[in-house]
Amino acid sequence: MAKIAPTLIYIALLFVYFCPVKRPKGFNERRVKMKAYVDPNACGGTGLCVDTCPGVFELDDDGMSIVRVDEVPAELQQACREAVDNCPTDAITIKE
Ligand code: SF4
Repeated sequence: MAKIAPTLIYIALLFVYFCPVKRPKGFNERRVKMKAYVDPNACGGTGLCVDTCPGVFELDDDGMSIVRVDEVPAELQQACREAVDNCPTDAITIKE
């Protein structure tokens, strides 16, 4: 029995690794918290960030960008980074 146990453990690990049961999306991904900020004094009101990531940014009544979420959801983080890169006045910062 002592010689069989390591083999059984090995087989069990193989099964877990190749298990056909579908894992939830992001199962192996590290969850990163992200917050976005817009400097109202730097924003030029172009709306590019809203076009790039409307789930995070919106224009206020004065036409300036504001952040509409406390924390950027994981599925919007890449788009939020693109908004940072696209902002012509560098008004957006993110903290991860
Ligand atoms: S892309 Fe930059 S300048 Fe344009 S609205 Fe957004 S924060 Fe303001």
